[in-house]
Amino acid sequence: MNQFLTRRSFILVPMMSILKTIFKPMQVLASSFNSKEEWNLSKEEWKSKLSPESYYILREEGTERAFSSKLNNEKREGVFHCAGCNLPLFLSDKKYDSGTGWPSFWDSIEGAVETKVDFKLIVPRTEYHCSRCGGHQGHVFNDGPAPTGKRYCNNGLALRFVLN
Ligand SMILES: [Zn+2]
Repeated sequence: MNQFLTRRSFILVPMMSILKTIFKPMQVLASSFNSKEEWNLSKEEWKSKLSPESYYILREEGTERAFSSKLNNEKREGVFHCAGCNLPLFLSDKKYDSGTGWPSFWDSIEGAVETKVDFKLIVPRTEYHCSRCGGHQGHVFNDGPAPTGKRYCNNGLALRFVLN
């Protein structure tokens, strides 16, 4: 019996390592095609990537203090990227001063954000997040300027500004 088990493990161990080398390159290939899976990180992985402040916003749907972000007054030409995964979310020509104290945009880059309804303040609000890593960005309201009438009210800590 013991002899049988030992023999089996002698066969199994090399077989497993052969299988691993065969399947490993396939997994890498698969993740490069499925960007969402690539960004499906654990709490610990996110904590090691982000500052505690950005982690609170992006991964726990927190909200930064009004007028606390430097990006609130950012008026240069550029692109606002997700601070979690670097996906471009907003263009500077869609940014406007809403007076709320948070960077505000009247439109996002197509397909960059996804929405869901939350009830954190009892009244339903439309939360939106990065479509790639799922990181919380802010809330979208229907009191924005033309042509969309939308106000994407974004946490500055959830964004990274890249100059054109
Ligand atoms: Zn992202």
